[in-house]
Amino acid sequence: MLKKEHDVSMKILTLQALLRRLPKHHLKRHQVEKELARRIAGLRGEESINYELSLLQGKNEYIFQDLRLPNGEHYFQIDALLLHPNFILTIEVKNIGGTIYFDKKFNQMIRILNDQEEVFPNPILQIKRQRTHLKEFLNSHKIEDIPIESLIVFSNPYTLLKSSPEYTPQELSNIIQRAELPFKIERFKQTYNSEKLTPKDIRRLSSLLLKKHIPSPNTTLENYKINPGELLKGVHCPNCFELPMQRKLRKWYCSQCKIFSTTAHINSIFDYYLLLSETITNRKLQDFLQLPSRTSSLHLLRSMNLESIGTTKGTKYFLDFDTFSTLNRISY
Ligand SMILES: [Zn+2]
Repeated sequence: MLKKEHDVSMKILTLQALLRRLPKHHLKRHQVEKELARRIAGLRGEESINYELSLLQGKNEYIFQDLRLPNGEHYFQIDALLLHPNFILTIEVKNIGGTIYFDKKFNQMIRILNDQEEVFPNPILQIKRQRTHLKEFLNSHKIEDIPIESLIVFSNPYTLLKSSPEYTPQELSNIIQRAELPFKIERFKQTYNSEKLTPKDIRRLSSLLLKKHIPSPNTTLENYKINPGELLKGVHCPNCFELPMQRKLRKWYCSQCKIFSTTAHINSIFDYYLLLSETITNRKLQDFLQLPSRTSSLHLLRSMNLESIGTTKGTKYFLDFDTFSTLNRISY
């Protein structure tokens, strides 16, 4: 049973907003585009194992996708976790095409595609670390003695996997192609045939995982060392993403694709939320959307029925993800 699905990827939405708001020739543009492509491929990979995971219908078998859990002062991430009464399985999904070479001598994963070599962190080390973190996390909550298995799943069936001869078959047994996942899980069930967690333990651990999951903080601008002043202002077109739209007859007009919109400002306020802050004042809204008057921006703010604090010019309005997902459909 699926207990937790993927979070809507805030990172992907934020990078898309950043690309909309960066001038065309900005130096960081290429870097942002590369990260966005990598994140989208990662998400598609994680989603691609949904079918294999949906085959798990056992009683007291729970799946959690996209967990970020605390261990001491740090956090560790797990693409998918299977909670079974006899064992726990963590899955790290890789959606990388081309030829993959695991190099033991330097502990690297090298991808060869179109005669280009690219180095990635070695996921074999990654899952070892992840297992240690998970063990410590469980011990700190008095859950001991449960076997933890980890798998690295390549989601693209055309990825060619190779390794240096120093690796033993045992060391490579955790690296599989997506189609093998159900059979591998079946083998774990046969290997671990004694119950370690009672249905009550499972319920407790299940709510613990959901409670301790903390989505990663949004620090995109800081990461790229981009100053808020470098971002383009104005309302962007919901159709072609051009900036800025013009205000005509209480509607937004795009001179590129010649469309009118009554709600385009909502998408742009969502950009503000993703890139700058979870609260906004009327003055900041007027500036960000480049509105002609304070009254027009106040009118737009009030029409969104946001929660607010304060009653004077400094009134802060609270923006949150749910506001936008209900006001507007979000896609990427
Ligand atoms: Zn347009």
